[in-house]
Order: sequence, then structure tokens, then C-alpha cells
Amino acid sequence: MSKLNIEPIKLQGLDLKRPLVISGPCSAETEEQTLDTARALAAVGIKVFRAGIWKPRTRPGAFEGVGSLGLPWLKRVKEETGMYVGVEVATSFHVYEALKHGVDLVWVGARTSANPFAVQEVADALKGVNIPVLVKNPVNPDLDLWIGALERINNAGITQLAAIHRGFSTYDKSEFRNHPQWQIPIELHRRIPELPIITDPSHIAGKRELLAGICQEAMDLNFDGLIIESHICPEKAWSDASQQVTPQGLKDILDNLVLRRPKIGDTPRNELDDLRKTIDKLDNQLLDILKERMRISEAIGMYKYQNNITILQSRRYDEIMRDRIERAEKRGLNPDFTTRIFESIHEESISCQSAIMNRELKNKEGKE
Ligand code: PEP
Ligand code: MN
Repeated sequence: MSKLNIEPIKLQGLDLKRPLVISGPCSAETEEQTLDTARALAAVGIKVFRAGIWKPRTRPGAFEGVGSLGLPWLKRVKEETGMYVGVEVATSFHVYEALKHGVDLVWVGARTSANPFAVQEVADALKGVNIPVLVKNPVNPDLDLWIGALERINNAGITQLAAIHRGFSTYDKSEFRNHPQWQIPIELHRRIPELPIITDPSHIAGKRELLAGICQEAMDLNFDGLIIESHICPEKAWSDASQQVTPQGLKDILDNLVLRRPKIGDTPRNELDDLRKTIDKLDNQLLDILKERMRISEAIGMYKYQNNITILQSRRYDEIMRDRIERAEKRGLNPDFTTRIFESIHEESISCQSAIMNRELKNKEGKE
């Protein structure tokens, strides 16, 4: 168990009923876009506004944020709409600039929380100011690194802490931009039950069509909040255009959320539910992997057809079985179980390959 000294987030006058919703554009682009988005969000009841001012981009040359120039726009957002405002900080300069301009809360981005030196720099710059600080999971699925970042911020005297779950980077892009790997925030909750968890469906999804489902999942898991990117005109956004929603789109998502269970802390969390949820997620991952494996089998079937190779290569089959059983035993899995699973997978793989070959032969016959 990690020992963090955590207090609930206190933003005066803000009713922290679940879910806490934070919304605003990926990036503040212009004063007009920032203000227009903020006004429309305030009109649908959003109380906490987000906007990226310094943007950590994957490749140089992309829009890297307007920088300090955008901070007075956020001040106007506060004055005009009464919303609280938050920005991402990655360096001590960002922290000083944000604080100087009256930013109410900050978050540490996923690329920053993966770097202990950078997190420590941010933590040191925050010493003595007890504003809410949200820490995104690092880009890589490393729970200890995430907790380490939270500890660094906490050790600097910040007690109004929350974690943001924004999914994890993978080389294979599945339907998600960043794989949610829900078992990781669930385990974070198990280790630090008093730490609020806010889900960032925008960076998990990468596309707005998936947002509603991810928000609902977060609520079903009893998480505390949502940070969702929104833009007055999403298609024209200078960063992350495909995942942003209009303020009205955001309202629709929120209106349709079903809050099945009370807030964390009100009732003891049901551990069995958590474990079952984790099993559901893992089964889903197994299905993704099986689907990908069959796709590769089909490609092999095609190769064998084109190169006149027989489908069943028994030496290869024996090798696979020996290797998989050995690997499974190292993990403490029962060899009979492993044998049954891989026999079944292999059988299906052969039938996929046969289907491809038969299809190609038929096509060829048809052409002759
Ligand atoms: C963001 O919130 O706009 C952002 C850059 O997110 P992340 O750090 O999760 O990639
Ligand atoms: Mn973004």
C-alpha cells in the first residue's frame, strides 16, 4: 500500500458530485476559440475548463501551443464564466507562469509523468501552493511509475491530488488511440483507495464516436470524474481534431450517462465487482489477440498458397507445442490446459488457412 496524504479537491463553491467533469479544448488556439468554447461549456453547466497552453507533440513541426500568450485568455474565461481553469504543466517555467496568471488547477501530462526528473521539477515548483494537481498515467503501462509521480507531487506538500487515466501507448493501434487497460487504474484504486480517479476518454479513444462508451465504462467502474476535450468547432481544431466534441455533443454524452452506483467512499467498493470487471477486460484483450493471430494465419495461408507449400507443417507444429508448453510452465500454468488451448488455436488456424487456399483456388479456376 502506498501512503499518500490526500485531501478532497476543494474548489470553492464547486459541488463535487460525481462525476467531476473537466472540459475544454485540447489546445487554446486563439482568444476567440478559447472564449467561445468556454462560454458554450458554461452554458451547458460545465464548471471546470481545461486548455492546453504548452503542447507536448510527438513530432516537431506540429502546433506546440500558444504558450504564455494564452494565459490571459484563461483569466478572461474565469472572469466571464466563473469557471475554474486548468492547464498542463511540464516544467517549472510552466508552473510559475500558470500560477502567476491565476490558473486554479494543473495536470501533469502522460509524457511528463513517465519522466521522474520532469515530475520532480514540477513538484519542486509547486512547493507551498496547495492547488489541485492531477497526474496522468505515464504513456507506458507502468503503475509504479504512475504512483511514483503522485508520490513526488504529494511529497512537495500537494494534498489535493487526483489521477487521470488516459490509456497506454501501444505499437499496434487497436480501436483505441491509447489502450485503456482498465485493470491498471482498478489496481491503482485498490492500492490507494482514497485517490480520486478521473478518466480521460478523449486520449483513450482518439475519435469522438467512442467517447460515450468509455465514459460509461468509467462510471460503471465507479471512477470519480471525466476530463473530455471539447471545441467550439472540433473539425477545425489545431490538435486532436478527431477526438474533440462540441459543447452540445458533450452535454449529450453526459445526459446519457447512467450512474449506477454511489460515489467512492459512500459505500465500500465491491471487490468482487472489480475483479469481474478486470476479468471482462482481460477476456476482451484475449479476443483481440486471437483475432490478430487469425489474421496472421490468413496471411500465412496466402503465402503458402502462392509458394506452393502444404498447410500442415508437422515439425513446426511440434516445435510450437513444445515451446508454448515450456513458456506456460514457467508462468505456472498447467501443461494440459496449455496443450488443449494451443491444439484448439492451431486447429482453427489450419482451418483459416484452408479457407484462404480454397478461396484462391476457386478464384483461379473461375478465371481459367
Ligand atoms: C492533453 O490532455 O491534451 C494531452 C496532451 O494529453 P496526454 O498527456 O494524455 O497525451
Ligand atoms: Mn489533446
